[in-house]
Formats: sequence, C-alpha cells, structure tokens
Amino acid sequence: MSIPITKKKHNFFAGPAILPATVLKQASAAIENFSNMGLSILEISHRSKQFVEVVEEAISLTKELLDLDDNYEVLFLTGGASSQFYMAPMNLLPQDGTVCYINTGTWSDKAIKEAKLFGNVNVLASSKESNYTSIPKDYEVPTDATYIHMTSNNTVFGTQHHSFPETNVPIVCDMSSDIFSRPIDVSKFGLIYCGAQKNMGPAGVTLIIVNKDLLGKSGRPIPTMLDYNTHITKGSMFNTPPTFPIFVSMLTMRWVKENGGVAAMALKNEAKAKLLYDEIDANPMFEGTTHIEDRSLMNVTFKMKNTEKETAFLEACANADCVGLKGHRSVGGFRASIYNAMPIESVQVLVDVMKDFANKNT
Ligand SMILES: *Cc1c(COP(=O)(O)O)cnc(C)c1O
Repeated sequence: MSIPITKKKHNFFAGPAILPATVLKQASAAIENFSNMGLSILEISHRSKQFVEVVEEAISLTKELLDLDDNYEVLFLTGGASSQFYMAPMNLLPQDGTVCYINTGTWSDKAIKEAKLFGNVNVLASSKESNYTSIPKDYEVPTDATYIHMTSNNTVFGTQHHSFPETNVPIVCDMSSDIFSRPIDVSKFGLIYCGAQKNMGPAGVTLIIVNKDLLGKSGRPIPTMLDYNTHITKGSMFNTPPTFPIFVSMLTMRWVKENGGVAAMALKNEAKAKLLYDEIDANPMFEGTTHIEDRSLMNVTFKMKNTEKETAFLEACANADCVGLKGHRSVGGFRASIYNAMPIESVQVLVDVMKDFANKNT
C-alpha cells in the first residue's frame, strides 16, 4: 500500500535536500521489488549481479557527466565529506610536504584543522575576517605545494568559486554542495569529493574522484580502510558499501543525464538563482548577505533589513508550503537551497511570498 502525498512541499533545506520526484518514485518501487528479483534493493547482496551493475552504472555516469579520462578513479565510500578532510591529506601529503588552503567557510576551516595532523598547512587566503561573505581572489599558489584545497561552494554562507586558480598544482576540492551543478575542467583537479546529500543523492555515501597518479607518495603507513588504493583495487567493495544511497545517487545521475547533463543543469541553476537574487535586490524588505560577484547558485543567503519581521516571514513561507528556509545559526536570516532537483516553479512560489510580504508590510 502506498501512502499518497496530498501536498508536496517546496523543499529549500540545505541537506539532506530535495531529490527529483521521479527518482523518489523509482527508489520507492525498488524498495518493494528491485529489478524484478522479488526482493527489495535493501535486502540483496552487494555482490549480486544486479547490484554490481548499479555500482558500474554509477561509476560510468560519473565519468560521462564530468568527462573524466582514465587517470581518474571513481569511489563510493562512507564517512561523509568530513572523513575526506583527513583522508585526503593522509593519502596525498608527505610529512614534509606543504598543502595550501583557501579558507572560505565552516567546511574549509574544519578541513584545515585535520590537515595539520599530516603536514605543513599554508592558509593562502581567507575570508574569515568578514564572516566569509566573499571569496578571496588575491593570492598566488606556490609552485612547490603538494596540492591546494578549496571548497567550491560554501553551503553555510552562500558563496561559490565561479572560477578556479590557474596553477599546475593539483586542486583538491570539496564539491559537496555543487557537484553536477555545472561543467568543470576536471584536468585541474587531483581529487574531488562530496557528501551525496546536497546535490546528488541521499545521505550515507561520499563520491570521490581521484587522479591515481597522486597516490602512493605520502610515505606513511595508512590503515587499510582509509587507503584510497584499497577501494580502487576492490571497486568500492572492500567492505559492504552503502547500497541504497549508491542506488539513489545513480538514479539521480541518470536524471541529470536525461535532462541534458551538467551544462543544462547550469543553465537552469543560473535562471533559478537570478530569479531569486533579483527579487532580493528589488524587494525593499530584504538584502543579500554576500558579495554579489561571489553569490552561490546553490545556496541563496539573505536577510531582512528589519530582523523583527523574520519569524512572520518564515510563517508566510510555511503557509505557502515553502520549508527549510531558516538561515544557518552562524549567519542568521534565511537560506534558500536551490539544488539541481529544485524546479524553477518552486523558486517562483518563494519569490511571490516575498513580494506579497513586502506589499502587506510596507
Ligand atoms: C555538508 C557539507 C560537508 C559535510 O558533509 P558530511 O557528509 O556531513 O560529512 C562538507 N563540505 C561541504 C561543502 C558541505 O556542504
């Protein structure tokens, strides 16, 4: 028996976050009967032919969507993006090596803390002083750095790197909240990682894309489970992988492909973000919280000029079925997360609430 959803909400949560409606439908069906096996996707072996096909398709879709060449390996691991904060330096950084960081927010800050356990950390640039309202651009990457770490999109503060530095030093990038949202020149990146639960699937799996030329050079012993080479050799099946999150991520990647790939996603994401930022800039009651040129297309942060009306505005949003808009506690105000799966119609509903609220309150 399936329980009908009487009224689906407009989901602006930052993560776990919205997934395409068709993906949820396919995932629900597979929970009851996967691939006509007479079994649920939740109760089959990760080594069954049917599940091995899921992982293989997830890997090949990742390679296709991001145009990866054969130097790159694709892994699906557990531990969240947060585990990559230490796993990346543990695997890539020799004890006497130096890693550079661009500190653009909470997540970069956490990554920096972990890297200090493994080698020298050089924070090249930071926007911490201005509570991360912008992306620093005035820095040069030292040519002898082992790698440079960046956080492409700052989920909490609503800023995004719209370009990456010109350097021969490999970039290691936390793309948790904007993977598959736009085309990227992968050749610049030595390692990309992302927790699935923002823009590619449910919580529980982390996608890792690594250039295998960078591995095996740290000179330190690495526990088996934390060694990228273990998971490369075993095709992400050294231990039981998170089967259901991988399956739903694979369905989401199929959806991205069917909807024109990352270039088409980028066009839609730009249109959605423009619609909302234009309203923030035009509406007398609201203002953006970040530098205009660094605004994120994924997480739109804004606040009220008169903060006393914030609760009333959130109520107006809830009455229009718009949920998940309360800003992160470190920023306040509001945050509208408008990932790939968010339809422009939902953004329009939010914009209409903002217009209506201003009309009634000014
Ligand atoms: C959410 C988030 C993380 C943390 O991911 P977990 O999977 O919870 O460890 C890291 N980086 C960024 C940019 C995020 O948005």
